[in-house]
Amino acid sequence: MGREPSIGGSRSYRDEAVVLRTAKLGEADRIITLLTRHGGRVRAVAKGVRRTSSRFGARLEPFSSVDVQLHRGRTLDIVTQVEVLEPYGQVIAADYALYTAGHALLETAERFTEVEGEAATQQYLLLVGALRTLTRREHESTMVLDAFLLRSLAVAGYAASFVDCARCGAPGPHRAFAVAVGGAVCPSCRPPGCAAPDPRTLQMLAALLSGDWDVAEQADPRCRREGSGLVAAYLQWHLERGIRSLRHVERV
Ligand SMILES: [Zn+2]
Repeated sequence: MGREPSIGGSRSYRDEAVVLRTAKLGEADRIITLLTRHGGRVRAVAKGVRRTSSRFGARLEPFSSVDVQLHRGRTLDIVTQVEVLEPYGQVIAADYALYTAGHALLETAERFTEVEGEAATQQYLLLVGALRTLTRREHESTMVLDAFLLRSLAVAGYAASFVDCARCGAPGPHRAFAVAVGGAVCPSCRPPGCAAPDPRTLQMLAALLSGDWDVAEQADPRCRREGSGLVAAYLQWHLERGIRSLRHVERV
């Protein structure tokens, strides 16, 4: 290491990342999908990772927060060094509710970073924050997921409105909620047949979006369920195929 002059410089780089997904490649290698702090979503080859003697082995499992060094390849980059910052996967894999919520976090993060190599630092920070909150069991896993989904949508430019009218801006709170319009709607903007959720549900969702956990956690289970349904519908509207793993998340 270090003697070859072509290594280092622009062909080698280092970043923090979360492992989103891994897939087998040939006999012993894996393709690792990473969400990096500075370089967006990156797919890289980890050579020999499936051999028991591998230096990387368990370090490159889904959910892991890592410090990774990569070498730019012609098609895919190559992982040359990995250090685990937080082994979130160990905690998450041991608890079904954490696992299903965690899996939905990873799938959503990947869907919101469709273009490989395009910086997505805010999305990265949201994901790391959600994984940390989830594994510390600071809040109920479904609420951590819903907060993450709402904030990811906001980062992507689809912030829902839970108070003022999403169409004309008339000050709320309003009773009606229209996914296609962007959230709460006033009586004059309200399209026919739109949902009229419990006002406390909208209050809870507003609190989840802004990170006001004290208010959000006052919501009863019925409001939490209704809120999760609205978040899922809103997400579905903005992402073409929806998020498959949301179906497996156990709701309270
Ligand atoms: Zn309006």
